[in-house]
Amino acid sequence: MKKSILAICFITSLLTTSCQNKSEDKEIEIQETIDNSEYTDWHSYSNPKETNPEHLSLDIAVDFDKQQISGVAKWKINPEKGVDKVILDTRNMQIDSVLYADGNRANYALGEADEILGAALHVSLLPETKEINVYYKTLEDATALQWLEPSQTFGKKAPFLYTQSESIHVRTWIPSPDSPGARFTYDATVKVPEGLLALMSAENPQEKNENGVYTFQMNEKIPGYLVALAVGDIEFSAVDERTGVYAEPAILEMSAKELDGIGKMVNTAESLYGKYRWGRYDVLMLPSGFPIGGMENPRLTFATPTILAGDKSLTNLIAHELAHSWSGNLVTNATWNDFWLNEGFTTYFEHRIMEAERGEDYAAMLWNLSERTLRGAVEDMGADSPSSQLYVDLKNQDPDLGFTDIPYEKGSAFLMLIEQTVGRKKWDNFLINYFDEHAFQSMTTDYFLDYLDKNLLSENEEWKKTIHIDTWVFGTGIPENYPHLENPLFQAVDKQMEAFIQGGKAADLKTDSWGAQEWMHFVGDLPTNLSIEKMEDLDAVFDLTNSKNSEIADLWYLLALRTNYEVAYPAMKEFLYVTGREKFLDPLYTEMMKTENGKKMAKEIYEIARPNYHPLTQKAMDKIVIE
Ligand SMILES: [Zn+2]
Repeated sequence: MKKSILAICFITSLLTTSCQNKSEDKEIEIQETIDNSEYTDWHSYSNPKETNPEHLSLDIAVDFDKQQISGVAKWKINPEKGVDKVILDTRNMQIDSVLYADGNRANYALGEADEILGAALHVSLLPETKEINVYYKTLEDATALQWLEPSQTFGKKAPFLYTQSESIHVRTWIPSPDSPGARFTYDATVKVPEGLLALMSAENPQEKNENGVYTFQMNEKIPGYLVALAVGDIEFSAVDERTGVYAEPAILEMSAKELDGIGKMVNTAESLYGKYRWGRYDVLMLPSGFPIGGMENPRLTFATPTILAGDKSLTNLIAHELAHSWSGNLVTNATWNDFWLNEGFTTYFEHRIMEAERGEDYAAMLWNLSERTLRGAVEDMGADSPSSQLYVDLKNQDPDLGFTDIPYEKGSAFLMLIEQTVGRKKWDNFLINYFDEHAFQSMTTDYFLDYLDKNLLSENEEWKKTIHIDTWVFGTGIPENYPHLENPLFQAVDKQMEAFIQGGKAADLKTDSWGAQEWMHFVGDLPTNLSIEKMEDLDAVFDLTNSKNSEIADLWYLLALRTNYEVAYPAMKEFLYVTGREKFLDPLYTEMMKTENGKKMAKEIYEIARPNYHPLTQKAMDKIVIE
């Protein structure tokens, strides 16, 4: 989800001044006017503020033959006095009936379907109504669901299903108040075919049972986009008492080995940001069609198998998903316009966790790679594009369009700048208090900036002058005070690269100490006019075409396309057939579409690969390859 396709976003800049400016003049007034619950979520029809949907009981069956989920969603609600209807979000969903708790039929109506938002389900309430039961079935176009044939799994024997509910896709498989600001607890009973295991973002089973009926409990309040389900031939391997790995048997051992550090990683994260509040932390390694790097479903991160490099070099992705246990899952962006509050904090935390585990030089590499990603993204979208703001206005747009590199990389850099300005100790104290005080709540950009001002920056007026909050949050492009980090490891790589480009031989490169990040920097920075001879030389010595590291392979294939190094094409095609991670697909297809020959190749590859991609990825790649 990190990398998606950007349409032209029209952003009406309604926020010309930030709370910071306002608060300089009238602090007392601000205390009265900034209300963290006063906001509009344009991406939901639901009315949770009036009806308080507190708990969901889900009772569903998963039918692989029909590729359908059916059952009932029972909502416990607590309507405000006089409220006569509850509105839930649905999209491409069949509603069969709606009953009250006593079994009587409730009046309901489905509103007109909007292409992005779906159809609002209006259910009439009686004065005493505290529960409504919605009987429903998912339909073919449920964008949250990816149904895999056995051939698309590692084991090749059993089908697989997983959900991806973020941003507004939970409404395609559960009729729900699908707004990140609406939190609820849930329990579920899920019936699946014999021989398969079901898992959710909840207390999970660790073994299959004979009847295929699994029950789940999530006792912490979460927003709908964090409700998740996976069904497949899945087994469990414990790492320690509170962490473990789920995967298909074919990759379980490999996955458990790669992730045997997650127990320690949770301890590291706790030492930085306070108690982990979700009980267990497990990771589910998915089949390779999974469209994103990872999804921070509470208690159970969903992860791409493309991080299985064999040397733990890409496990910072797990640090990222784990960090969401604080930023995103504990304190949640109130609307998708505030998405940077989820991802900027999380990317910053990811780097801090990795720094604590592997040292400053390692973290500096991550920061440098972030900077490169950010500069590339801003170059692609244009430095004056409203999409390059941290706070974006996605009204009337698909919120998935906000999932660019900006909230991640610009957001984390902004927080890094604050850290550098106020000092790490003060900043860390602020963060711990911030998460503690707002645990299990949603957060708007305005409220956060106000809180930041009152609880940290107001201590020293010079700090605000140094940071320029408005420029960072509401301005476009990359601010001049970007906190660039010098990095001795990459500087050493740069020296060698220069010598290689100036006529050196690949065999003379001293790469023994290089890890994946150094290689990513090297391959990513090689000039696009590198000669075929140089490409051949590198490949002969390092076999980059067959790299087992997905990040390095992806960068190498991109360079191969740019330099017309055709030797790498067969391996690239194989990579594109099985890998569904958009971050990798997007640049490769985009690059191919730039030339006539490339277009032909892209279309040929895509025809074979498309069925393996997630519906959302298909939608995004269609825009590049077909439309
Ligand atoms: Zn994230």
